[in-house]
Amino acid sequence: MTNLTNFTIKQAQNGLQNKDFSATELTRSYLENIKKKDKDINAYISISEDLALSQAEEIDKKIAQKESLSPLAGIPCAIKDNIMVKGERCTSASKILENYRAIYDATVIEKLKTSGAVFLGKTNLDEFAMGGSCERSAFFPTKNPHDLERVPGGSSGGSAAAVASDMAIYALGSDTGGSIRQPASFCGIIGMKPTYGTVSRYGLMAYASSLDQIGPMGKTIDDCEIIFNTIRGLDKMDSTSTDFEVKEVKKEKLRIGVPKEYFGEGLDKEIEESIKKAIEFYEKNGAEVIDINLPHTEYAVSCYYIIAPAEASANLARFDGLKYGTDSKLENPQSINDLYLENRTKGFGAEVRKRIMLGTYTLSSGYYDAYYKKALQVRTLIRQDFEKAFEKVDVIVGPTSPCLPFKIGEKADDPLAMYLADIYTVSLNLAGLPGMSVPCGKSKSGLPIGLQIIAPSFCEKRLFDTGRIIEQKII
Ligand code: GLN
Repeated sequence: MTNLTNFTIKQAQNGLQNKDFSATELTRSYLENIKKKDKDINAYISISEDLALSQAEEIDKKIAQKESLSPLAGIPCAIKDNIMVKGERCTSASKILENYRAIYDATVIEKLKTSGAVFLGKTNLDEFAMGGSCERSAFFPTKNPHDLERVPGGSSGGSAAAVASDMAIYALGSDTGGSIRQPASFCGIIGMKPTYGTVSRYGLMAYASSLDQIGPMGKTIDDCEIIFNTIRGLDKMDSTSTDFEVKEVKKEKLRIGVPKEYFGEGLDKEIEESIKKAIEFYEKNGAEVIDINLPHTEYAVSCYYIIAPAEASANLARFDGLKYGTDSKLENPQSINDLYLENRTKGFGAEVRKRIMLGTYTLSSGYYDAYYKKALQVRTLIRQDFEKAFEKVDVIVGPTSPCLPFKIGEKADDPLAMYLADIYTVSLNLAGLPGMSVPCGKSKSGLPIGLQIIAPSFCEKRLFDTGRIIEQKII
């Protein structure tokens, strides 16, 4: 069969409408590609071939009956394995959920199903989305398609690698502190984190509920906009969801803010060069570039690594091997605590256990005020930094990551270095803002570099429009 991969959503949809190929042929092609490539890349935890082919067949029937189709109908996609697809495995890349099958659809999945999406399978992540390299999956690390010795980023590394290597046309990821944007940057694709509340979290396995957002990962900004508009919206199953949208009036001149704090120590020189070129490109194309300050940036990582583990420690309490998760079948337990201890010690990996301990510590009486409460106060200051900046500028730009995709194992023994690499992404989650990573160049060794664009809350349209100015222009 001819190889029908390497499509964007729009191209594939045109092909379906023009009857160049059927949805079944398209889906088979992507399944073939997965069989060929995924033994080297390891992007997928599970493949849902039967589901995908039956969904594709449904679309072919609709095409035969000349029914009108939504833009995502018949388009094969990948879903991060912490988002529930009814009847399919959903592991969060953890041993404790190794054999768990979702008993309901996440709201985003329901919406995609209504739009006729085709689900190829579930993608790898750092266990419970805790990490930035995909090395912390309990099953296997995913490789970066641009260099198989390097990480694809994380935690949505499987989704990013699948899209970058044509093993899916688009994917969903989740972003608590950068997990969509950073792997998108490492794999040379577009990844977008929506404003907190615009996409329902119902059916997303919770990591840190006040920070988590599901978002699109794709090859083009147009594609990501289509996905975002499909999955967004108020949902009665998620009390933090909303329908809010800013109606934008077209401005004469785009004002771009460049924060001084995003170009400090620790930023890779090649990345700095690429980002500066991107900013020059905007200026040449009529934007006004304005230097700004986000003075509390230096506290963002510490603040995030108190709040996220605190929330995680509460969210992950449900996995005890009895209510949820694998029962390790301890013989002769002396108490319920013995059971919990055994199940949770065997079921969770080291990073997850560490974060649960950190979280329970900072929430415990005597430490709460010094750590958790303080972190909440700092969170407010970080949000106010952005509010002030957005009085003067329309969008903010900078690097997505301070470093290029690193070698597998390179940072494994240095958790602090791994946490510090989240410097540019976590503050958006703390402030609830939308952000997107757009490829803006490559290192001398050919590794992708991503530009992060940040907009005020509910200004996703502005984010997409700003991204489109530079998309595919400097590669
Ligand atoms: N790297 C960050 C962490 O380890 C972000 C993860 C995420 O966004 N899910 O928590």
